[in-house]
Amino acid sequence: MEHAKKWYQNPILLLLVLLLPTLASSQLKVDQDRLESRIFELAKFGLQANGETERVAYSDADIAARKWVISKMEALGLETTVDFAGNIIGTRKGSDPNLKPIAFGSHIDRVPNGGNYDGCVGSMAALEVIQTLNDHAMSTKHPLEVIIFSDEEGSLMGSRAMAGHLGPNALEVVNSTGYSAGEGVVRLGGDTTRIKEVARQKGDLTAFLELHIEQGGILEKEHIDIGVVEGIVGIRWWEVEFTGFANHAGTTPMNARQDALLAAAKFVVAVNEAANSFVGRQVATVGKIKAEPGAPNVIPGKVVTSLEIRDLSKEVIEKLYHLIKEKTEEIAQTSHVKIEFHRLDTTADPALTDLSIQKEIAKAAKAMGLATKQMPSGAGHDAQDMALIAPTGMIFVPSKGGISHSPKEFTSPEDMANGSNVLLQTILALDKDLN
Ligand SMILES: [Zn+2]
Repeated sequence: MEHAKKWYQNPILLLLVLLLPTLASSQLKVDQDRLESRIFELAKFGLQANGETERVAYSDADIAARKWVISKMEALGLETTVDFAGNIIGTRKGSDPNLKPIAFGSHIDRVPNGGNYDGCVGSMAALEVIQTLNDHAMSTKHPLEVIIFSDEEGSLMGSRAMAGHLGPNALEVVNSTGYSAGEGVVRLGGDTTRIKEVARQKGDLTAFLELHIEQGGILEKEHIDIGVVEGIVGIRWWEVEFTGFANHAGTTPMNARQDALLAAAKFVVAVNEAANSFVGRQVATVGKIKAEPGAPNVIPGKVVTSLEIRDLSKEVIEKLYHLIKEKTEEIAQTSHVKIEFHRLDTTADPALTDLSIQKEIAKAAKAMGLATKQMPSGAGHDAQDMALIAPTGMIFVPSKGGISHSPKEFTSPEDMANGSNVLLQTILALDKDLN
C-alpha cells in the first residue's frame, strides 16, 4: 500500500508554497486612483482664484500642506516627527531591530508659479507605498522611513542639512515669501540653533530612494515608462566680466574699438560651440547678460555674463571649462577686451546613484513589463545630497511635453502608478537583499 504523501513531498505544491511570498510581493500594486486623488488633494493647499496653486517653502500654504501630510502619515501608523531642519520624517518599524532604515521621499514645496507634480509625485507615492504595505499586512526587515524634505526648491535646505553640508550662508537666503531660510525653518517647526544635529553619517541609512517626474521630454518622446537615473549632474556657475573701453559710438572708428559687448557676443557663440565640440551629454549656457553703460550711442565698456556648465562628470565639466577658456583667450586678444572668470560657490558637485540600486530599479520595472532608460538628471534634487551619505537610487516618470516648473506640468495617473510600483518593488528587493 502506498503511503499518503505529505504535501511537501509533492514537488509542484512545494514549489508553489516556496514561491508564494515572492509572487505575492511582486503582484503587490499601489492604488492608482488613491494616489491621483492625493495629488489633487495636495494641490488644494495654496490654490488661487485663477485655479493655480502657489506653495513656496515657508509660506502659510506650505505649512498647511505639511500639517495635512503629517496627519496622513500618522493615520498610516508612521511614527512622525519634524526634525530641526524642518524635514518631516515618518518611520514604519522593521522586523529586525539591528537594521538601518530604507528611506524614501521627496518634497512638497514648489517654485513660484510651479506645478502639481514636481516633488509631490514622489511624496504622495511614498505614502502610497506605506499604505499598500499596510493594506496587505506586509512587514519589512528594515525600518522604512518616509522623508518629506523642507525647502527643496529654494535651497535644498532639508536634504543639505541631513547630508551635513549646509553652506555657511544657507540660513540667510530670503525666498519670495520674504522669510529667510532661518526664519522659515523655525516656522516649519525646526530649530536653527540645533540644525547641525540632523546630519546623518554614512551607514545611518541602508538606502535612499526618490521617485520624481523627469522634468524633461526624453521619456515621453521615446515612449519609455521609467527613467533609471544614473546621477544628478554637477552644476558650476561663473560670472564672466568683459572690460573694454566705453567710447563715443559716432566718432570711434571700427578698428579702434574695445567693444565689450561684441566680445561677449562672440563668447556666447564660443560657449555653444565648445559644448557641441565633443560627444557627450554636457551642457553649457550663457543665460544672463548686462552691458554698461547701456546707451545706443556709447560703445559698451563693460559687460557681465553668466556661464553655467552641467555634466555627470567633474572631469567633463573641467574639460569643457578649459575649452571655453581657450576660445575666450582668442576673443580677448582679437577684441582688445579683458575677460575674467569668477567662479561662484553656489554650485553642486555631480552625485552618482548606486549601481546596484540602478539595477534593482531596472529589474523591478522590467518585471512589470515597463520600458526603461538609463539617464542623468539635469535638474537638482534632494537625492543628490542624500547620495553623499547613503547608497541612493532615483526613479523618473515622464513629464508631458517635458514641461516643468509651470502650472502646465502633468504626469498621467498611469505613469505615477508605474513609478510608485517600481519604487515599492525596489524597496522590497533592497529589503530582501541588503543587511
Ligand atoms: Zn523636485
